Amino acid sequence: MTERTPGFATLAVHAGAQPDPTTGARATPIYQTTSFVFNDADHAAALFGLQTFGNIYTRIGNPTQAVLEERVAALEGGTAALAVASGHAAQVIAFHNLLTPGDEFVAARKLYGGSINQFSHAYKNFGWNVVWADPDDISTFRKAITPKTKAIFIESIANPGGSITDIEAIAAVAREAGVPLIVDNTLASPYLLRPIDHGADIVLHSLTKFLGGHGNSIGGIIVDAGTFDWSKTDRYPMLSAPRPEYHGIKLHETFGNFAFAIAARVLGLRDLGPAISPFNAFQILTGIETLGLRMQKHSDNSKAVAEWLESHPAVAWVNYAGLPSNKYYALARKYTPKGAGAVFTFGVRGGYDAGVKLVSNVKLFSHLANIGDTRSLIIHPASTTHSQLDDEQKTKAGAGPEVVRLSIGIEDKDDLIADLDQALRA
Ligand SMILES: *Cc1c(COP(=O)(O)O)cnc(C)c1O
Repeated sequence: MTERTPGFATLAVHAGAQPDPTTGARATPIYQTTSFVFNDADHAAALFGLQTFGNIYTRIGNPTQAVLEERVAALEGGTAALAVASGHAAQVIAFHNLLTPGDEFVAARKLYGGSINQFSHAYKNFGWNVVWADPDDISTFRKAITPKTKAIFIESIANPGGSITDIEAIAAVAREAGVPLIVDNTLASPYLLRPIDHGADIVLHSLTKFLGGHGNSIGGIIVDAGTFDWSKTDRYPMLSAPRPEYHGIKLHETFGNFAFAIAARVLGLRDLGPAISPFNAFQILTGIETLGLRMQKHSDNSKAVAEWLESHPAVAWVNYAGLPSNKYYALARKYTPKGAGAVFTFGVRGGYDAGVKLVSNVKLFSHLANIGDTRSLIIHPASTTHSQLDDEQKTKAGAGPEVVRLSIGIEDKDDLIADLDQALRA
């Protein structure tokens, strides 16, 4: 008998989980403990020397977290994963595996604002240098590569406008340069798009957004595709060189196609420390059980709201990749055939003041700085997230005075449309 490969919805409910062997608990328990008892002194020594897998201390791993990791790895089609305290922590830990002071990475210019800040400022203190490229012009990635380049970083569906990135074209540039492609898949989730199927070597998420999905827990995850040969050159010493932290073992040689996830845990997470709490891992796991149902509803609602906005007299333009009028529509058909996600921007007639008025007059939409909640969210970037920029910088960042960003929830679409209608009229 051949074993069936479970489908996405089945994996979302079951991957990584078993009834608790001691109590029979069916839902994954919250293992709210800092530390775990060793069987004996030999077991303890083997755990510390990486000769056996097991639990030591919740900063390095925890059984609730382990189920979350196995589940997201299964949904993304990766070999292994590491969950951490936030999406930003996932980025730091992933780059910590790859970069030493003086190294460079190439990043798409269209990114979550927090990532632009992290790369531009915080990383300078580590000697890690970002070089920007334009995801709408693949040649800019090729031109940005130097002998110091160690990775390429993009978002699958990109902030703030929900544009679609041509992952396969950028993966080809990464392969040619001999560097891994890292894809932040937060806005798509593996339900809409699986970057590994298109050539990504590492996939990151802010679990805070659609995977958790309910706006109640911060978390992040690193998924290892198991595709990159870390030992082909000596450019990735964290993975290929003997590690003094572990009696000189070489992580890639020892752990093969899940070495990146292991290094992220036993070097990055262990030493830098941004562990996810067992409670947050539990909340996010619960959210993932309904990921497919929610993402379909998020996307269907978004298309309906975007279509309605496009015909509204108070709206100047709508930028949603799921609309045939959109410049990314062909890429959306290719990469996100089930729907183009739930985050997009539109322009109100009347500029800055009209934008401020709109976010002040909504009743069902929440005016706040987040995305990927069951609830519909709205923000006027020019007066909030991007207020420190001058007008030209705002426009370049896709946050001009008239721009409003929505993250569409899973409410009834007619109620969302009615709320926007009354707020645009007010
Ligand atoms: C929110 C977000 C992040 C950062 O995640 P946190 O969980 O807030 O640290 C990174 N990338 C994208 C695309 C995001 O939306």
